[in-house]
Amino acid sequence: MAPDAAHGVRGPIDMRGTGAQAQRDSEGTAPRDSADTGESHDSGRVHLRVLQTTDLHMQLMPFDYTAGRPAPGTGLATAAALIARLRATAANSLLFDTGDLLQGTALGDYIALERGLAPGQTHPAIAAMNTLGYDAITPGNHDFDFGLGFLRRALEAARFPAVCANLSHALGDTPGTDRTLFAPFTLLERSVEDAAGHRHPIRIGVIGFAPPAPFCAAPARGARVQARDIVAAARTWVPRLRAAGADLVIALAHTGIGPAEHRPGMENAAIPLARVPGIDALLAGHTHALFPAPAFAGRPGLDVATGRIEGTPAVMGGSHGTHLGVIDLELRRRTRGWQVRHVGSEVVATAQDTPPRAFAAPEAGAGTCPAQAVSRAVASDHAAIRARLGDIVGTTRTPLHNHFAMLGVAPALRLVMQAQRTHVARLLAGTPHARLPILSAVAPFRAGGLGGPANYTDIAAGPLSRRALHDLAPYADTVCAVRVTGAELRDWLERAAAAFLPVAADARDAPLCDPRVPAYTFDLIEGVDYVIDPARAPGDGRIAALTRAGVPVHPDDSFVVVTNSYRATGGGGFRSVAPERILCRPATLTRDALAAHLARSGPVSPSAAPLWRFHARPGSSVVFETGPGAAAHLDSIAHLRPEPLGRGADGYLRLRLHP
Ligand code: MN
Ligand code: MG
Repeated sequence: MAPDAAHGVRGPIDMRGTGAQAQRDSEGTAPRDSADTGESHDSGRVHLRVLQTTDLHMQLMPFDYTAGRPAPGTGLATAAALIARLRATAANSLLFDTGDLLQGTALGDYIALERGLAPGQTHPAIAAMNTLGYDAITPGNHDFDFGLGFLRRALEAARFPAVCANLSHALGDTPGTDRTLFAPFTLLERSVEDAAGHRHPIRIGVIGFAPPAPFCAAPARGARVQARDIVAAARTWVPRLRAAGADLVIALAHTGIGPAEHRPGMENAAIPLARVPGIDALLAGHTHALFPAPAFAGRPGLDVATGRIEGTPAVMGGSHGTHLGVIDLELRRRTRGWQVRHVGSEVVATAQDTPPRAFAAPEAGAGTCPAQAVSRAVASDHAAIRARLGDIVGTTRTPLHNHFAMLGVAPALRLVMQAQRTHVARLLAGTPHARLPILSAVAPFRAGGLGGPANYTDIAAGPLSRRALHDLAPYADTVCAVRVTGAELRDWLERAAAAFLPVAADARDAPLCDPRVPAYTFDLIEGVDYVIDPARAPGDGRIAALTRAGVPVHPDDSFVVVTNSYRATGGGGFRSVAPERILCRPATLTRDALAAHLARSGPVSPSAAPLWRFHARPGSSVVFETGPGAAAHLDSIAHLRPEPLGRGADGYLRLRLHP
């Protein structure tokens, strides 16, 4: 704090470490504190704090709807308390969100797919953000999941602008002639208070960016949206924003920290974007990471001590309201414009010192604390979805788990496979496709990954509530069927099998799963028998046998594979199928197909038998990591002779297996 006070920044800066960062500032612009310490020194010296939420994914309240229990340390309501504290300790602050706001919890799906947005109705996320006084936002790729029309209707009630420079209805010959969906940038006319208490007008330029790849990969999702390379758009629009009079330019970039080198259309472009001249602060997102944080230490272009990317002040505030991104800037009035000095960037966990009573049930006329204001804005929808999720929709006689989905054993996935296959079989009855074999493909969506070792499906035998439907089908995907050849089927499985690291035939305790491959790209397919051989290189004949009813699958055979809209349109890096081979009308949510199946079939008992086998390698062993809840279900992988090796530091259960 001392260096900040010496620099005359008004109000204490209570962020850990920024004082030291200020001393280390190497730009050579730090003011000298010689005789020049009085009002003349403080006049025109402005502390501006930039606050960021990102990838909230409809985590407005600290509550896990799928588990039906509180989730402390998450949610915009939790972040609200920290936002208030960080505002109180800065003379001037701005609050931004960098996207993936409207999708991600049962509450989000409820608003988009059930309650809807009638004219005059406000989306709870927007209502909550209005109470916090956001200055601007940029949409993320998932904000388009329910269509552009829904996103626009949600934003109508926003008391803040949305900007995005690289998403368009139609691309022009150059970025400057694109017909962008949103204003590429906005100029916020603000007045800031300097350290001497004088106010100064300032124009904050805010520009937004979205990752191009998800829009190119899934063109069938919602409206046609065309994406422009982030860096190309920035090179055009940042100078225009400067020319329009911005004293300061802040980039809201729903893009992660990826390769340093610019490749056109790259998804995670924060590093090359940071090199575009004219950006004073960069707020990144999309990958749910924290920056600055030790995980990025030593990477070229990244300074985790000060929080800079290629020298540009930068931050990335995680996801789900667990953290805020904070950038402290010191501005100095110059004859023309403002000089910007970076004091420091930091991510701060929102749960710090948050009084738990902030989340007590909001009462009419209760206090005005920001957490309560958010809670009140969300309260009626929060209560409605909680009640709805408690409805009983069916019964299972066997436990539904997916801890061993990567090993082919997954009763939870079997239930989804059955439900979506039944749905499609009814749709195809009486059509020429009815005579084709119907296979069913499902990937484990809740299987570790960003959600950590607790993020697995593990539902006890007994009554199933609507919560279970969200657990089994967490995304608002619809059932799709795809006509494929035997060769394409093999290719599909081959692609899934790339999730395994190469394992030598005589390996001992070799790690089995490639941590770079997310589980949601691993499709298991029911209706055929196959063998996976991780001793082969990925993509090189790992599907060692592929039969249907004991007969080898011929490359020219025809199948219908039931999957979901996400995969059918190329999600997870899969080649998308020609539209005429996709059968998905009428659109039915996988979740709704599940509910219908449970209602029709009575109690279900999905099988824990393996959907496929590993190529037998007697004498070899591999190490497989999964959620600790798997320990209760080891009997279902008895054929792999599991030996528990305890839990790793990351919380995952390690199992030695014998393929
Ligand atoms: Mn996200
Ligand atoms: Mg995203």
